Amino acid sequence: MTTTDTAVPTPRFVPRRDRRWSANVQWVRHGIQAAFAIWLAVTLGQHLLTPSSGSVEAVCPFGGFETAWTWLTTGRTVSHTHSANLVLAGVVTVLAVLARGFFCGWICVLGSMQESVRAIGRRLERVVPGMRAVRRWLEPGPRLDRALRLGRYAVLVWAIGGAAVTGTMVFRAVDPWSAFLGIVDFEFSTGIVVLIVMLVLALFIDRPFCRYACPLGAVQGIVAKASPVAIQRSADACLGCEICNNACPMGIPVNQRTRVTDASCIGCLQCVSACPSQDALALTVSFPSRTGRIDSHV
Ligand code: SF4
Ligand code: SF4
Repeated sequence: MTTTDTAVPTPRFVPRRDRRWSANVQWVRHGIQAAFAIWLAVTLGQHLLTPSSGSVEAVCPFGGFETAWTWLTTGRTVSHTHSANLVLAGVVTVLAVLARGFFCGWICVLGSMQESVRAIGRRLERVVPGMRAVRRWLEPGPRLDRALRLGRYAVLVWAIGGAAVTGTMVFRAVDPWSAFLGIVDFEFSTGIVVLIVMLVLALFIDRPFCRYACPLGAVQGIVAKASPVAIQRSADACLGCEICNNACPMGIPVNQRTRVTDASCIGCLQCVSACPSQDALALTVSFPSRTGRIDSHV
């Protein structure tokens, strides 16, 4: 037997031929994010001009979850919610099953805001002395990061439980999204402070609110466990370069997964766009079968 017979095979490097698709998908994503941001700006502008046109909080899907849970458990509804909240909550749930965190990664304006601020933070790091050091100081280590990630589930239990017990949206007082919408009504709550802190942190950390505090993200992460859609990694084609890990705004160690089924995945496809190997990462639809799983590439 020769030495080459026993050698451990090295990963097969297949240079990417689909650079156009993987680069363009991020332009499409940014376009959709921008479209929703513009739609929200127009909605808020219209409300500012005609304040009697209804509450702007009707565009919050989380209010629908709070109302649905309170109604199921107590038969009551929650103040400050609207039928539109319930419809949005239903749409977000269906999206979570069909496309995992698509809402967070492609639609949510609060998520897009954090992403934009982080992009500014990255540019500032190149010119402002000390920014990089502040980021390193603020970035939680792996153990603290794991503990902090439980935060959004704690917020979810408090928000839903509090709404069911009190009949009011207890989370609303500190909700940065509600506070942002309330600016056009000249309402200023503690949520404004949370919003400012969140945006300052977003200069240094990717999507801090999504990672650690968003109850809507927590709901979607739980629902998405039933989703057949996920990013799949081929160990044969993977180079182990960890570029995907660095690209992931949710800090998922993609290079250690065979299928990315993490509750925090927001389906942004930035890992796929960044991966330098043609076949290493792919978006797949996978169903369990008697012989294992049936996978098809999207
Ligand atoms: S980017 Fe990630 S999946 Fe792609 S080759 Fe590198 S480690 Fe593997
Ligand atoms: S694993 Fe990929 S798709 Fe999921 S959040 Fe990270 S970069 Fe986005």
